[in-house]
Amino acid sequence: MEIIRGIAVSPGVVISHAFVLDAEDVRIPRRSVVESDLPAEMAAMTAAFKSTRKEYVELQEDVARSLGEEASTVLGFPIKVLSDDRWRQKIIERIEQNQVSAAYAVSLTMREYKQRFLQLKDRYISERVQEVYDLERRLLQHLLGKKREDIAHLEAEVVVVAHDLTPSQTAELEKSGKVLGIATDLGGRTSHTAIVARSWGVPAVVGLGEISAHVTGGDTIIIDGTHGMVICDPDQATIEEYRKRREKLIVRDRALGELRDLPAQTLDGVTVDLLGNIEFPHEASICLERGAIGIGLYRTEFLYLGDDSNPSEEKHYEAYRRVIEAMYGRPVVIRTLDLGADKYTQTRNPVPERNPFLGCRSIRLCLRNLDLFKLQLRAILRASVLGDVRIMFPLVTTLLELRQARTVLRDTMEDLEEMGVAFCRDIPVGMMVETPAAADSSAAFAAEVDFFSIGTNDLVQYMLAVDRGNERVATLYSPAHPAIIRKVRSIIRTADRANIPVSLCGEMAGDPIFALLLLGLGLRSFSMAPADVPEIKKIVRSVTLRHARWVVRKVMTFESDREVVNYLRDEARRLLPESV
Ligand code: PEP
Ligand code: MG
Repeated sequence: MEIIRGIAVSPGVVISHAFVLDAEDVRIPRRSVVESDLPAEMAAMTAAFKSTRKEYVELQEDVARSLGEEASTVLGFPIKVLSDDRWRQKIIERIEQNQVSAAYAVSLTMREYKQRFLQLKDRYISERVQEVYDLERRLLQHLLGKKREDIAHLEAEVVVVAHDLTPSQTAELEKSGKVLGIATDLGGRTSHTAIVARSWGVPAVVGLGEISAHVTGGDTIIIDGTHGMVICDPDQATIEEYRKRREKLIVRDRALGELRDLPAQTLDGVTVDLLGNIEFPHEASICLERGAIGIGLYRTEFLYLGDDSNPSEEKHYEAYRRVIEAMYGRPVVIRTLDLGADKYTQTRNPVPERNPFLGCRSIRLCLRNLDLFKLQLRAILRASVLGDVRIMFPLVTTLLELRQARTVLRDTMEDLEEMGVAFCRDIPVGMMVETPAAADSSAAFAAEVDFFSIGTNDLVQYMLAVDRGNERVATLYSPAHPAIIRKVRSIIRTADRANIPVSLCGEMAGDPIFALLLLGLGLRSFSMAPADVPEIKKIVRSVTLRHARWVVRKVMTFESDREVVNYLRDEARRLLPESV
């Protein structure tokens, strides 16, 4: 049994079998084999070693031809391993002694080597672990066939363990409906994997460092998404303990579920709007099940991430129609494409960016690709007659950008008018306030939009200069930083003065720790992963605005995020002892 700690990003507990996925969707299955099949497995192993070696030698010759002998020496390591009989012998012994398939034995052996490499003090050598990953991947491709795993059609329920999940893998896994939990080596609290896990409502831990080197497909693991822990190979007593914890959580969720149709109203009668964030159309109905009163953020870029080709206008329209109809006239805020950064694989980008979070993402990308932008706007406008639809632009930094986006929207409206297509001319147009510049100039922006939504996921990243998806700096990424709290307060005040609605749709809105603070700061609209709605509703219904304002006054006296978090955690714990 081994306990690995990471960053808790989606609460809950799950005990299941691991499905280990590499970057190319190659799955490593655990498979016991009957004794009579052992010779065939061993022969397959020897053949895979031979073919993989041949592949590397050919690659080395190619590199030598195009880049010179010197450069080709980088491939010396895997060739040496494949020529060294000890590695092969070790795997053969494992197949024979444990009666397992060649693929499983390869994966297990490589895992041991990966761990040993990672333990080496010499950085140059430890970084060569990537070569062991590559070697394993090639051997498995020979053993399992080149076919990529069809991860959209998993047969059994699993927890997914990966080095990192690409947005398209996440989209495929979502289609399968079989993922009970997620554990990854990389990632931070607001990386796309974390956001998606929270949306699905499955426990997840990211930033685990080397979990993918510690787990083999089929192993039993426990994911504790509340405390940010993964337990590999748990003993029976631990399994029992976590089963009990899981049952308790189920009972708690059932109790929270009873709040679904009750208003989110404080004890002194202040009503708050709790809305849902979604990435996929079917999540709209989950928002209603959890008691949300609308969609405060539809991340439409996920339409692009599950597919290699760009979606047509019809595909956009269909997705929007599904969401709007599922909401039966309740508000739906459709955010225009926030592609780029971690939500657009850089491999699909003709010129990979050095600094993608500061690069051509979101509204910047749309304003440079007007066909792509207009296609989406047409679909949104066409769908606008089906319900209460609102448009929101992401990552706006300058007034010029906002004006350009509005001009493109007007042009699109004129095109539709000429074509005689119906749409809602008065569609509310809002923007995310998620860059420090937009936050600072919020008064000027407020004069030109119908609503604000504060995107703390990005605002924190840009204000604190901390990559939101980088586990190495995750402890520095804190919405509780006094500077962030002051900024959020100032945006809310500006919106109030300008008399426009303001919502907050970053992960902070669904974190029970911050509910009281945000309420006291004057926020009356929270948009969050649907799974978070019941807890936030419970908090809202248990407090008075007077108390929330008192909490704000106290928080404003603190100078560090630590003090803020400790204080807010204690407050939240009194209201939600089983969750915080
Ligand atoms: C945000 O930045 O807070 C936000 C909600 O948008 P996203 O997480 O999609 O960048
Ligand atoms: Mg954002």
